[in-house]
Amino acid sequence: TAVPTITLNDGHAIPQLGFGVFKVDPAETERIVTDALEVGYRHIDTARIYGNEAGVGRAIADSGIARDDLFITTKLWNDDQGTQSTFDAFERSLEQLGLDTVDLYLIHWPAPANDRFVEAWKALEKIRETGRARSIGVSNFTVPYMTRLLAETDVVPAVNQIELHPAHQQPETAALCAANGIKLEAWGPLGQGKYNLFELPEVTAPAAAHGKTPAQVVIRWHLQQGNIVFPKSNNRARMAENFNVFDFELSPAEQQAITGLEREGRVSAHPDDVN
Ligand code: NAD
Repeated sequence: TAVPTITLNDGHAIPQLGFGVFKVDPAETERIVTDALEVGYRHIDTARIYGNEAGVGRAIADSGIARDDLFITTKLWNDDQGTQSTFDAFERSLEQLGLDTVDLYLIHWPAPANDRFVEAWKALEKIRETGRARSIGVSNFTVPYMTRLLAETDVVPAVNQIELHPAHQQPETAALCAANGIKLEAWGPLGQGKYNLFELPEVTAPAAAHGKTPAQVVIRWHLQQGNIVFPKSNNRARMAENFNVFDFELSPAEQQAITGLEREGRVSAHPDDVN
């Protein structure tokens, strides 16, 4: 089944389901991403700080898949925020990936202690002008950071990649993004395995009803919410499981019940505290 695409505010299309490589061992990344590409994923989400861009690049190069059929995201690390330092970091990421362009380049965290995210964004605007990053966006931008960015810069981010799963949906950030045509990318879409998401009746009941797994139900919920999502797994069978979510649909009541699990249940760091 073809993965649906979402059209971003700059006109580019992004596959709504991808594969994330946070905490994928650099020594194993080539094999794991090769598995993901064989399973059918065409959208890969990496970052400079993951240390595995080179492995992603080797898997891409060896895959024989046309560059235009792939969607590759990487991210600017906090220490590299600035002007020239952002340009340099972007070049290093391209080099590591072995690519001439990335499809999406993100500011990884606002890193407020540095107070350089506005400057970094202006550098991303320039990078976009060169065409070497087709789209640009941000990550972990809560309402205050997003508000300031929108007020002080010209290009509206294409996406905001935030921690987003049933217990933590960040409704204020989501509303601000929706009002400004910014698509949401959900990181930690399965809650990073850090709470009992797969045992909650709101998830297990539709899983039983549709003959799917709890993980498939949660991924399906994201897709029906309109989120862009890239669950991570080192395990090829789970990669295939997570990709096999286009042969069923949650009813509005099932969807609503999962949305009702919101409880400000952040499982990872608050963006104010990551510098
Ligand atoms: P995730 O919610 O995708 O959880 C991954 C974990 O869930 C795996 O380690 C695995 O143990 C488990 N899992 C995966 N598939 C499963 C299945 N079918 N059944 C049971 N368990 C399963 O968490 P994540 O990896 O943190 O998030 C996904 C991606 O988001 C990352 O790989 C990365 O690309 C991105 N991310 C971005 C940021 C950011 O700051 N921008 C932060 C974290 C993650």
